Amino acid sequence: MRYRILVVAVLAVAAGAMAQQAKKKPGGAEAIGYDDTPFLPGGKWRVHDIRRPHPRVTAPGAQPGAPPSDAMVLFDGKDLSKWLGRAGREQDGAAAEAGWKVENGYLEVTPGKGHLMTKEKFGDCQLHVEWAAPAEVRSSSQGRGNSGVLLMSRYEIQVLDSWQNVTYADGQAASIYGQYPPLVNASRQPGEWQSYDIVFEAPRFEGDKLLKPAYLTVFHNGVLMHHRMEVVGPMAHRILRPYAPHAPEEPLGLQGHGDRVRYRNIWIRRLTGYDQP
Ligand code: MG
Repeated sequence: MRYRILVVAVLAVAAGAMAQQAKKKPGGAEAIGYDDTPFLPGGKWRVHDIRRPHPRVTAPGAQPGAPPSDAMVLFDGKDLSKWLGRAGREQDGAAAEAGWKVENGYLEVTPGKGHLMTKEKFGDCQLHVEWAAPAEVRSSSQGRGNSGVLLMSRYEIQVLDSWQNVTYADGQAASIYGQYPPLVNASRQPGEWQSYDIVFEAPRFEGDKLLKPAYLTVFHNGVLMHHRMEVVGPMAHRILRPYAPHAPEEPLGLQGHGDRVRYRNIWIRRLTGYDQP
């Protein structure tokens, strides 16, 4: 008897809840949004705003690390068609032919062939890069698997074999070179493939004036290294190099530092804001 009363009570509560829900969501257009809710800060969109544009559909890569459908693939293991060479200084050296070796699905830094720079230019972006330091360990500190990912040809995320290899902290793998060490050392052994996932906000200039510095967020092998860190200035060795105005978009670079570091699966996405379907 008591059980029956309980069942009836539960059913009554459930029916009430359904009626309430039906009142709030009668179906049709109202079921996917509202036009009578409070405005979010800024006053443009309401909470659950039915008029708010829906994000475009982007298919994720088939496996973790694979390019999503809206990425620009910069290297897919086959050729250097998206790249040029650059001799001399990373940010303003002379243009050259892209001369790094491509084989077995990866490209390899080729000593004497300078840096690689993309033909296309980028500003704010999400970047995925996979790399491997030479399996054969020959040197130490900065001489061991040195290369680098050069955002806008000048803001460097260091590539280095930092597996049981001591160097200055702000120069080890995943450092913002010469500025910030990574939060932790998540390096794999030399010869193993590693990944960088980078979110980069380009600096903004007005004439000679810096309006907004660059910011970097970096994951190394899936581990957070930098969380929207303010970049001090362009990469430099033993000095602080101040910001110097440059174009809103510049080539992405890979540093040729004399060590045969390998790269594969490089893709990039330009960042867009909210409500831009
Ligand atoms: Mg380097």
